Amino acid sequence: MATVSQSDLERRKQISVRNIATVGNVIEFKQAFNRHLHYTLVKDRIVSTPRDFFLALAHSVRDHLTSRWIRTQQNYYEKDPKRVYYLSLEYYMGRSLTNTMINIGIQSACDEALYQMGLDIEELEEIEEDAGLGNGGLGRLAACFLDSMATLGMAGYGYGLRYEYGIFAQKIVNDEQIEEPDDWLRFGNPWEKSRPEYLIPVHFYGRVLHDESGAHWVDTSVVQAMPYDSPIPGYQNNYVNTMRLWCAKSPHNFNLKFFNNGDYIQAVIDRNYAENITRVLYPNDNVFEGRELRLKQEYFLCAATLQDIIRRYRKTKVGEKTIERNSFDEFPDKVAIQLNDTHPSLAIPELMRIFMDIEKMTWEKAWNICTKVFAYTNHTVLPEALERWSCGLLGHVLPRHLEIIFEINARHLARVSELYPNNLDKLRNLSLIEEGDDKKVNMANLAVVGSHKVNGVAAIHSDIIKKTVFKDFYEMTPEKFTNKTNGITPRRWLKLCNPGLSDIISDKIGDDWVVHLDQLQQLKQFINDPNFIRDIQRVKQENKMRLAKILKKELDVDVNPASLFDIQVKRLHEYKRQLLNCLHIITLYNRIKRDPNLSIVPRTIMIGGKAAPGYHMAKQIIRLINKVAKVVNNDPVVGNKLKVIFLENYRVSFAEKIIPAADLSEQISTAGTEASGTGNMKFMLNGALTIGTLDGANVEMMEEMGEENIFIFGMNEQEVGELQRRGYNAWDYYNSNVELKTTIDQINNGFFSPHDPDMFKDVVNVLLNHDRFFVFADYQSYVECQEKVSELYKNPLEWTRKTIYNIASSGKFSSDRTIAEYAREIWNVEPTFDKLPDPHETTKPIENGDKMNGKNSF
Ligand SMILES: *Cc1c(COP(=O)(O)O)cnc(C)c1O
Repeated sequence: MATVSQSDLERRKQISVRNIATVGNVIEFKQAFNRHLHYTLVKDRIVSTPRDFFLALAHSVRDHLTSRWIRTQQNYYEKDPKRVYYLSLEYYMGRSLTNTMINIGIQSACDEALYQMGLDIEELEEIEEDAGLGNGGLGRLAACFLDSMATLGMAGYGYGLRYEYGIFAQKIVNDEQIEEPDDWLRFGNPWEKSRPEYLIPVHFYGRVLHDESGAHWVDTSVVQAMPYDSPIPGYQNNYVNTMRLWCAKSPHNFNLKFFNNGDYIQAVIDRNYAENITRVLYPNDNVFEGRELRLKQEYFLCAATLQDIIRRYRKTKVGEKTIERNSFDEFPDKVAIQLNDTHPSLAIPELMRIFMDIEKMTWEKAWNICTKVFAYTNHTVLPEALERWSCGLLGHVLPRHLEIIFEINARHLARVSELYPNNLDKLRNLSLIEEGDDKKVNMANLAVVGSHKVNGVAAIHSDIIKKTVFKDFYEMTPEKFTNKTNGITPRRWLKLCNPGLSDIISDKIGDDWVVHLDQLQQLKQFINDPNFIRDIQRVKQENKMRLAKILKKELDVDVNPASLFDIQVKRLHEYKRQLLNCLHIITLYNRIKRDPNLSIVPRTIMIGGKAAPGYHMAKQIIRLINKVAKVVNNDPVVGNKLKVIFLENYRVSFAEKIIPAADLSEQISTAGTEASGTGNMKFMLNGALTIGTLDGANVEMMEEMGEENIFIFGMNEQEVGELQRRGYNAWDYYNSNVELKTTIDQINNGFFSPHDPDMFKDVVNVLLNHDRFFVFADYQSYVECQEKVSELYKNPLEWTRKTIYNIASSGKFSSDRTIAEYAREIWNVEPTFDKLPDPHETTKPIENGDKMNGKNSF
C-alpha cells in the first residue's frame, strides 16, 4: 500500500506556498478519485493496487483536461486560425501525469487530496510508463515543441505514429547491453482517446495507369489508419492542443481471397501483417536503415495526416453555418506543415498526388501550393544518417510517388540547366536522384526543393549545411535557408524536474520565468547574495542525495554525494565521443595508481545512453565503460577518489532525476558533428557547468554566459576541417603522449578484460586507424581542461557563482523562443500568451452541440 513519505511531506509544503489548494478543490478531487476507483477501475480501496491508485489519479486529472480540450478545439473551429502541423516519426513524451497537473495548475490540490487519503503521490507518479516513442534529441524536441505551441496559444498539432513498442528497455547483463521490448501499453494508456469512427485508408503497392483523365493508382492494398488523440495542455492558459498518433488496422475485407478459398483461419491470422506497420519504433538515432517496413511507416504517417489536414481545411464556417471549402486557394493561408527531418518528406509527393490525381489540379498550381505549405528542418550532416531510398524499393511500395518524384526532379533540373547551362556538376549535386547501380532518391534534396524554408537547429549547424550538404542549393536559393536554434520546455526541464531550484528562483524573481525564461537574467543581481548562494548549494546537494538514493535502490551502488558528479547522458554514438570520456577515466585511474597519495577532487563519473541494437561499436563502448567501472570501483587503492557508473536505461523520466543532480555536463562531440544538442541546455538550466567543444548549441551557450563560465576545450570546427584536409594520423598522438599510450595499451592488452584480452581490439583498431571523430587529437586538451574543472570545484563559492551565471543566461534556450521564431519566420502565424476563459467561466455550456452544427471540431 502506498503511504506518505518524508520527502512527500516536504514537497507538499514547498508546492503549497505558491499553488494554493482550496478546500473545495481538494474535496472535489477526492470525490473524483473515489468515483474513478469505483466506476472506471471497478475496485474498492481494500483490493486496489498502487497501479489502480495511479490510474484513478490519472483519470481524475484527465477530467480537468476534457472541457478545456473540447473548448480549445471549438475555439479553433470558430476562429479558423492558420493551423500548424508538426510531422514527426518520433515523439519522446515521457510521463504525462505531473506535467498535466502543473500545466493545468492543480498540483497542490492533487497533492493535498492524495495526502488526505493517505497515499504517496510521488510513489504513484513512478508507476506511469514513459511514452518512449522516440530515440533521443529529435523526438524529445518534438515533445518540447508541442508543449510550447500549446503554451503560446497556437493551433498546433503533432502528427505521428502510435508505436505499440517504443524505444527498447536497456538491461546491462555481463557488462553488455541487452534490449527488452517496451510493451508500454500493457496496462492501458489513460491519456489517449481512440477515434475508431474516423478510420482513414492508406494505399500501398499496386501499379499506375495513365489515360487522358490523368494517372490512376490501381490494384493497391489498403491499410486503415486509426487516430488516437492525446491532450497537450498549455501552461495555465486553458489551451489544450492535440497530438494525433496513427495506429495501423487491417481493413474488414483484408485477405478476403483466402477467405473465399475457405482458409478462414489464415485470413484472420493475416490481418496482423497489415497491423505490423505501427508495431515498433526503429531504434536508430542518426542512422538510416533502408528497410521496407520503415518506408511504409513513413508513408503511412504522411498519407493519413494529409487526408486529415485536408478534411479539416475543407470544413469551415461562414457566420453560424458550416460550409465546405471547394477551392484550395486559401490552403497556404490556413495550413503550415513542418517536416521534422526528412522522415516525413514523402508528404511532398503525396500532397502533389492528391492535388493532381484526385483534385485534378495542374502541376503548376499544385506545386505552387505545396512549396508554400512545407518547411523542412535538417537535424544532421552525418552522411550515414541521410535518407536515400532505393528507387527499386520506392517504385515497388509507392509506384505513383516515384513517378511524381521523377517529375519534380525533371522540372527542377530544367530550372538548374537554365541557371547553370552545361554544368554537369551542378546537375549531379542538385539532383534528387543519385545515379549508380542502385539508383537512390536523396530525400534531403527532395525536402529542400519542396519547401519554402529549410532550417538548421543551431547557428553553427545552419552555417555548416550552407557550406556542405546543401552548398549548391544555398547558392541557388539562399532565401530559403534559415536558423532556428533548438530549445527545451522550462516546464518539464526546470519546474517539474527541479522543484527545489524552481522555488528558490521564484522566491527571488517571482514565477514569470516559467513562460518568460529570459527573466532568469534577473538572478545575476544575486551573484553576491550569500543566502542565495547557500540556497543554490543546498538544492544541488539535495538533488545529488536524491539521485544517490535512487542509484542505491535501483543499481545497488554507493555514491558519495560530496564528490563531483560528472555526467554524460545521451545516445551512444561515436561522434558523441563517450570514448574520450572513457580515456579520461582511465587516465585518472592511472594517476591514482601511480601515486596513491595523490590529492585529487573526488569524482563520480556517470555515463548513460542506449546504443542502437545493430551498432556494434556503440555496444562495445558500453561494454568497455562497464569493464573499466568494474576495475576502478573494485580497486582499494582508488578508495573514494573515483567512482564510475553506467546509468542503465537512460530515458526521459530518468533524465528528470539525473540532470538536476549534475555538477558537470559532458558535451564533448567532435566540433561540427552535433547539430545542436538539447541535453546541454537541460544541464545549463539546472545549474551544472559544461565541459564541451565549440559544437552545436554549446557555441551559443558560451555566447550567452561568457567564456569564463564554461569549460571549452579541443579543436573548433575550422581546425577539425584543417586536420581532415592535412590528414589525421592517430598514431602521432599515441606515440607522443605517454598517458594516452598507456590507456590505449591497457585497453588493447586486456587490462580491463583479463578473461578475454582481445575483447576491445576492434575498439583500439578504430581509434588508431579509422577514427572519423579524432578522439586522440582532443585528448590532451580535454584532460587539461578537466584539471581546471577540478581546480574550480575546490572553491565552492566561485563554482556556485558560475552556476548562477549558467542558470541566469539560459533564457534563450526555452523552446518558447524557438517556437515563436518558427511561428513568425516560417509559419507566418503570430504567437501570443493569450488565455482562454476558465471552463467554469463560460456563459454557454460547453456541451452545447448546436454551436458545432453537429460537426466534430477535432
Ligand atoms: C534531451 C534528451 C536527449 C538528447 O540529449 P543530447 O545530449 O542532446 O543528445 C536524449 N535522450 C533523452 C531521454 C533526453 O531527455
